[in-house]
Amino acid sequence: MAVDARPLWSCPRCGAKLVSRGLSHSCGRFSVAGFLKGRDSRERALFGRFVALVAGCGPYHVAPARTRVAFLVRVRFASVNRLGPGGMDVHFVLPRQLASTRLRRIDRVGRLFVHHLRVLRPEEFDAEVGAWLRESYREYGERRWLRKGSPPAAAPPAGAGAARRTRGGPRRSGG
Ligand SMILES: [Zn+2]
Repeated sequence: MAVDARPLWSCPRCGAKLVSRGLSHSCGRFSVAGFLKGRDSRERALFGRFVALVAGCGPYHVAPARTRVAFLVRVRFASVNRLGPGGMDVHFVLPRQLASTRLRRIDRVGRLFVHHLRVLRPEEFDAEVGAWLRESYREYGERRWLRKGSPPAAAPPAGAGAARRTRGGPRRSGG
């Protein structure tokens, strides 16, 4: 039952919300405005639609970096990783693996699955993507998934590989 209900630490210099005091972060060097600087209206619309979906999940924080913007509640559950003429690449994290041909790649990280999506038009951020994001926000962003099942720190001892079934990730070349 490792649900962490402590408030996030707020960096006094840049206002970044962090799980613990003094955690390494970009500290004010990057901003959403900076990320969007020079973007055309189509790119801004893509970004805006994604932010609207995130905002629809509940309160959130942004963690802008040089080339990406992450979104977090307690932890970073989603990110805009690329924005350009080829569309917008985002990812969101879930404790389960989705099965959808819309996803261009799914990376398994321990018991988590990082779902990658490329979107060309704002309308593609539809109810289905909204539901995925809502689940990601709740389960991973708010860390609800830790309330269920075994604690995530319980790594199998060396040599107990037989207990863990690993399947090759469903890499899809969707574009
Ligand atoms: Zn800071």
